Amino acid sequence: MNYELILPANVSALLARLKGAGFSAYVVGGCVRDSLMGFEPHDWDICTSALPEQMQSVFSGLRTVETGLKHGTLTVVMDHVPYEVTTYRIDGDYTDHRHPDSVRFVDDLTQDLARRDFTVNAMAWSPDTGLADPFDGRRDLSAGLIRCVGEPEQRFEEDALRVLRALRFASVYGFAIEPATASALRAKAPDLKLVAGERVREELLKLLCGKSVGQILREYPEVLAEIIPEIRPMIGYDQQNHHHSFDLWEHTVRGVEGVPADPVLRLAMLLHDTGKPAVRTTDEKGEGHYKGHPKVSEEIARRTAESLHLDNAFRDRLCTLVLHHDTPLRTQSGEINTDRSFLLRRLNIFGEENLRTLFLIHCSDRIATGYSTPEREKARLAERMAALDALLAEQPCFTLKDLAVNGRDLTAVGLKGKAVGEALQSLLEAVMDGRVQNEKAALLLSLDHKSKDNDSDNE
Ligand code: ATP
Ligand code: MG
Repeated sequence: MNYELILPANVSALLARLKGAGFSAYVVGGCVRDSLMGFEPHDWDICTSALPEQMQSVFSGLRTVETGLKHGTLTVVMDHVPYEVTTYRIDGDYTDHRHPDSVRFVDDLTQDLARRDFTVNAMAWSPDTGLADPFDGRRDLSAGLIRCVGEPEQRFEEDALRVLRALRFASVYGFAIEPATASALRAKAPDLKLVAGERVREELLKLLCGKSVGQILREYPEVLAEIIPEIRPMIGYDQQNHHHSFDLWEHTVRGVEGVPADPVLRLAMLLHDTGKPAVRTTDEKGEGHYKGHPKVSEEIARRTAESLHLDNAFRDRLCTLVLHHDTPLRTQSGEINTDRSFLLRRLNIFGEENLRTLFLIHCSDRIATGYSTPEREKARLAERMAALDALLAEQPCFTLKDLAVNGRDLTAVGLKGKAVGEALQSLLEAVMDGRVQNEKAALLLSLDHKSKDNDSDNE
């Protein structure tokens, strides 16, 4: 059967240039896999028999970036889109588990495909020769299978990142992992500890956002525990708490599945209860309690952020979400708190984006206990979001920036030093509580009353 791929015009032009100069050239890897699955590839990689210096002369006149040239990759930029063009190559050993020690350029496409990780990633296509598929990637794609090219143990030993890539592709595409590949990856998972954090990060975040993340986390928790060791005690952990019907890992997996596929939300749910085993106490009735666990989970999130080289903004948001996943968002009596001053104070602390995200996390966490129904929790979530929408539509004041007076106004009426900041904060609270209008005259007047109250207190 002949498969016709639809190439972007620039990609066709790059292939034509290489062929015109007497070289063979194909689109290869992820873009072929995604095209055959009917998805739009997010980038197009090309492989070719041209050596790096030959590519440079073929593409002279085009904008190129030479950072990967040592490994045979020249990036060609057309219409602001980068295309990676790589000489057919085979990789040497990965003694440091990070990069191949050396690469050797070859002139044979099949050898280049043989170095690739999985059969579904080891296909190439060109307009005049059609699909090159020496490892039956097409068959595995139709069967929904992730299978190593070659001998699985050896392939995972060469580069342990492939262990996580297998889980990533299975999660993203909802594929199964072929049994020999699965048992080899379990055996080689401990080597993941040696892989550079930034390589692990990319694969882990994609895995967490995949449609089959729940299934993968349930089947391979010990692989994840090689990356985040605090996961290990959670596997099969009986919480012995009447608010929870699942063990701690199953609760976590359900929590992850229940939030939108956004890397920071998914990672926050993965880590939100990691602190539980360390803080557990058991009361006289045998019930487990986990007081203070969000703080410990936050410390674990911070360590994880460091080991994965997450950027500061990602880390800070992650830590906030983990630390506050359990922060009461309801009233003492357990009702959903949609009270105006309550919401304004929460907006003041978290900002709109994090507050909405905490609502989502809270909802997923509750459903994942197994003790509340999704319908009930989703109705509560909708009610909260609606209350927040209505409130924000009024453009209310919930930050010092929104307050109708500033430090200069207070200095002008005689306040000095620390008293200025304190007065601003108490005025903001008075406005959020609805005790004073957010208008300059009213605010200054209330300040007057306040200082008079204080004077009389002192008498
Ligand atoms: P994505 O859609 O996420 O970009 P991809 O398959 O294109 O997926 P990349 O990381 O962009 O993944 O790699 C491009 C190709 O290079 C892969 O399809 C695969 O053929 C090969 N490859 C990438 N990483 C490895 C690896 N660690 N070991 C072997 N081959 C790899
Ligand atoms: Mg790619």
